[in-house]
Amino acid sequence: MPITPIEHPDHSAMDPGLLAAVAAGAARLTPEQGLELLTKASTPNLGRYADARARSIHGDTIRTYVIDRNINYTNICNARCTFCAFRRDGDEDDAYTLSHEQIHEKIAELSAIGGTQILMQGGMNPALPLEWYTTLLRSIKDKFPHIHIHAFSPPEMIEFVHFFDPPGATLEEKIRWVLVRLKDAGLDSLPGGGGEIFAAPVRKKIGLGKCDAEAWLTTMYVAHTLGMFTSATMMFGHIEGYADRVHHMHLVRKWQDRVLQHSDSAPAWGHYVAFITWPFQRENTPLGRVPDWGQTPGELEAEFPGDAVARAWDYSRGVGKPGHPAGTRSADEFDYPQMDTARYPTAHLFGKRVRMSGSTDYLRTQALSRLFLDNIYSIGASWVTMGPHVGQVGLRYGATDMGSVMMEENVVSSAGTTYCLDEPVICRLIREAGFTPAQRDNRYDLIKVHAGAGSPDLLVTDWSQHRARQMHQEAPKGTPQASTLTEVTVSAAASK
Ligand code: SF4
Repeated sequence: MPITPIEHPDHSAMDPGLLAAVAAGAARLTPEQGLELLTKASTPNLGRYADARARSIHGDTIRTYVIDRNINYTNICNARCTFCAFRRDGDEDDAYTLSHEQIHEKIAELSAIGGTQILMQGGMNPALPLEWYTTLLRSIKDKFPHIHIHAFSPPEMIEFVHFFDPPGATLEEKIRWVLVRLKDAGLDSLPGGGGEIFAAPVRKKIGLGKCDAEAWLTTMYVAHTLGMFTSATMMFGHIEGYADRVHHMHLVRKWQDRVLQHSDSAPAWGHYVAFITWPFQRENTPLGRVPDWGQTPGELEAEFPGDAVARAWDYSRGVGKPGHPAGTRSADEFDYPQMDTARYPTAHLFGKRVRMSGSTDYLRTQALSRLFLDNIYSIGASWVTMGPHVGQVGLRYGATDMGSVMMEENVVSSAGTTYCLDEPVICRLIREAGFTPAQRDNRYDLIKVHAGAGSPDLLVTDWSQHRARQMHQEAPKGTPQASTLTEVTVSAAASK
């Protein structure tokens, strides 16, 4: 069982001695210290200590990427997340569900370029029975036994429970019933999609119809008990307060502690292997139409509404409180419209203003995640949403993995993201950041270390052929360009 670093709650997060100990893995940040760092530390300092922490875990040499394909098998979804531009109702013209044969074709293309896994996620489509999934998984394992199936994020799993009505007295038992059947059919691991922000008031506003934090974390817990290795994610830079980001990381760390107690069990339990953050992308989304904070004169001098609600909710101390052992107190217990207007004068604007993230906020949040999540192995750079060069800088702000070199993405790109890179470019970005690129698998074991002259980037003589290209997207029904959009471009998307 791993030894948990000790907290030193009496120290300021600015204490260089504390930060050096955190970077060495010898001390653990409290949520209060995490918030202090996120809001007060200088950006270069955050990067310096996050980089030191990354080097203490991963060494000075290798930084990784994976080749996979994001297959969004359906865009029909019964949830209505306000940040989503991807979902459709079943009767809309451009609603789709891929056939098993179409999915097989995509995997064959992936396999042909040396890909090792599929990341399969979709909307929560009530028309698909359990057999649709189990037959699909078995057929993939039958045709492509070498491909790792990383699929069905916790919100999808929770909807499976609602759709399939499995036996069980508790949600955990019901999840287990479904997950055991999917695992037996070939599912290898669960992606961390749908994490967004765990704090209940935020989640209730932006994730309409999506499972709450307790259900999300319980799904991952069940997956871990079944020996699966998963990721966790966070989408920030919208209506949330800074404390909400720390609260989110705190829950991941807490539940990770819980499963790591069983790391010596037989059969072995899994756990979270990676944490990936990315900023909200606003284009084509209902949430994106919400005004930016600061557009009204005087606003910027006042407290951002998300910070006011987070302060009142007192997230950091709410984690682990008696009666709320999971730190997932229901939003219904907290009536923020009734908040004391003298103490929280901007709270009435909660959900009515967004605070979008730029590159600096992204790098700061990622750096904090590296320092705070002392029990998570990998931090992913989400360059897809911020651009390749910000992602590259992210390798000096705690990230050790450049995520997916993949062939298509539909969910994030529907909200305006268009960056896509091929394998040589990803390798070049890693090398120019001062590291040796290496292809990894889903468990972060190395497949190929590109140190020599035959490396993908070192073979390139004409970089003009490797600029960012159109991502593959599922074309709306009836449009003739389905195949022209389907350039088999090695591209990338946010890892979920
Ligand atoms: S984010 Fe996922 S769950 Fe939410 S509406 Fe979009 S497809 Fe559905």
